[in-house]
Amino acid sequence: MRRRFTFLHNPGEHDLAQSPEAMLSRYRGPLCIKVDGEDRSRCRALVTLLHGNEPSGLHAIWHWLRSAERPAVNLLLMIASVSAALCEPLFSHRMLPRARDLNRCFRPPFEDEQGRLAEEILTLLELHDPEAVVDMHNTSGRGPDFAVVAFDDPFHDAIAAFFTHRLVVCSLGLGALMESSSDTRPIVTVEVGGCEDPRADTIALAGLQRFAQAPRISPQHGNATPLEKLDAPLRLELRDGVTLTYADTPQRGHDVTLNPVIEHHNFGTVTVNTPLGWSDADPRQLFQARDASGLCAVRQLVQVIDGVLYPAQTLILFMITTHAGIAESDCLFYAVSADGSPISGTGPVGI
Ligand SMILES: [Zn+2]
Repeated sequence: MRRRFTFLHNPGEHDLAQSPEAMLSRYRGPLCIKVDGEDRSRCRALVTLLHGNEPSGLHAIWHWLRSAERPAVNLLLMIASVSAALCEPLFSHRMLPRARDLNRCFRPPFEDEQGRLAEEILTLLELHDPEAVVDMHNTSGRGPDFAVVAFDDPFHDAIAAFFTHRLVVCSLGLGALMESSSDTRPIVTVEVGGCEDPRADTIALAGLQRFAQAPRISPQHGNATPLEKLDAPLRLELRDGVTLTYADTPQRGHDVTLNPVIEHHNFGTVTVNTPLGWSDADPRQLFQARDASGLCAVRQLVQVIDGVLYPAQTLILFMITTHAGIAESDCLFYAVSADGSPISGTGPVGI
């Protein structure tokens, strides 16, 4: 098998080049960096830049390496989508044109280039057997930091707490790296905030320092703030063929107009009086949302009153996008009920 990764062991200042960008330009492909720890019998891993337009993890790795700090245990640092990141303009491509989203490729078949890169990351994790893995991303819009786990237990919580105090528990079965998590190799996704927000780099570096320095991973070594958990969120998705735009007044010629200010509600509470946008159609014709048993829960999430779109109950919304492309290919937002009770649908998904 052709190896994609370039390996660096205890890199010095010269190996790191003058900047994170210069380091990528020097190696031009995926990088796997191993730093020996105080305790060399154990290892932790940080994977980042699965998406080429999310540089905070790379920045954190570069600055942390420059500090020449010795980690508590061996640290494996993987920087994946270097060719997409280097595609001009720098850090503008999530993946190369026509390539699959790398964070959807961590399950067989590993047939295309992205699949083989994902397989190699899994092989490296297998080989180094880390006790904890963090996959660091930036969010596509503005918003605070949070972690996502597919499995919730105290060990996953402790890893998340090095980086953030918000934890989303959800498994979508999409082939994301965190879905390969297990009891022996817990994997946590960390979203440090939007890449245009300078706080994202600060959060990424502070989290990496805590993750690298903690002698053990146990709840008391994490962030002292208790985790705010958002369990089993539902996704509000657009139905095929429904047209969506973002504007602060209703736009003719589109089935739904969403007000871009909804982004300010990220991880906040919205009530039945919070306007989200405009439409004249029945929400079930516009959207789909499956509950845990596969029933349609659109009516439990949103309602239209006199042409205005409102939440159907008090909800906490997060991962709200204001990019029509992401809303179409992924979802508009995730939602949980404000009181933490599960949201159950009432009818079949088709109409
Ligand atoms: Zn990402």
